[in-house]
Amino acid sequence: MGVEFKRKMQQAKILDPHRGYQERALTLETRWDPLTKMTVRVLDLPIKKLDKLDMEEYLARIGDVKCPFCPDSLEELTPKFTDDFIKGGRLRFGEVCLLPNRLPFDKFCAVSVLTQRHYVPIPDFTEEILFNGFSTACVFLRRVVEVDPMVRFFSINWNYLPMSGGSIIHPHLQIIGGELPTNYQGEMVQRGREYQQRWGKIFWDELILKEKELGERYIGAVGNTVWLASYAPRGFGDIMAVFRERTSIIDLSDQDLRDFSQGLVKAFHYFHDFNHYSFNLTLYSGEYGQDGSFWVNARMVTRRLLPPVGASDVSYFEKLHGESIGYKKPERLCEEMRGYF
Ligand SMILES: [Zn+2]
Repeated sequence: MGVEFKRKMQQAKILDPHRGYQERALTLETRWDPLTKMTVRVLDLPIKKLDKLDMEEYLARIGDVKCPFCPDSLEELTPKFTDDFIKGGRLRFGEVCLLPNRLPFDKFCAVSVLTQRHYVPIPDFTEEILFNGFSTACVFLRRVVEVDPMVRFFSINWNYLPMSGGSIIHPHLQIIGGELPTNYQGEMVQRGREYQQRWGKIFWDELILKEKELGERYIGAVGNTVWLASYAPRGFGDIMAVFRERTSIIDLSDQDLRDFSQGLVKAFHYFHDFNHYSFNLTLYSGEYGQDGSFWVNARMVTRRLLPPVGASDVSYFEKLHGESIGYKKPERLCEEMRGYF
């Protein structure tokens, strides 16, 4: 069987006040993630474009908070690594500055400030800005494995703007490296290993083959990266990028990172046109130095505040049931995005 796209449809009945209290059936779809078997619920609301958000007004409402990542305060307000780990305490590349995270989310935890500009709207991110950010993160992680052989799990993460949990407007990546994987990362690594043992093939290779054949969620390829609408979405818009034949972030070449950055710019143009203002992004790495059953992949989910009161789009489902709700079918997302690739 190999990669399986399992789903179950169910219906709920209501008497609809907008249709003179006539009986109406509402459809709910449950999908099983083809790798982890975790379930998600897809409601597929008839929303094409989200409402426009006035970002100038949104940022003005946040007010004048002192930003530690702006060029005039970065030198004095942000921490440094010890000289024996990173000479000079911070890594610099173009406008990028990588420095320690004050919060110890893992044994090694860095923040990579991407630009000198404080607020960068989504369509203004260039391939160069993104490449510089991700390649500096890779330089940092290569240094980490050099000094600490116990560290085998890494990820590069991004909360873009407060709607996605970002506490600082200034664009920055968060890089973590540790002895233990995160819950979901560990699950993917383990399931990928089991898949290879059971089927003698690599899950991600099979997933790409199958998605390409079906054509329903295959968005496109940029060099060595393949872009898909995730079958079991973990948010409103959930996009996946797979790096062919790369097990760990440490293995990524400059060309891989250029391909990824170019793909991201394309996705950002779609976000801009469809009024997505915020997202979470993670670049997952397999266990460093282990078998090749894992391929590096990124997930990106768009985030927003829900009208009319600006409620969070994360609720009891995600926080307490560990289950995500998708409001748009991945097949529809793929159709909308394909033209950008
Ligand atoms: Zn700033």
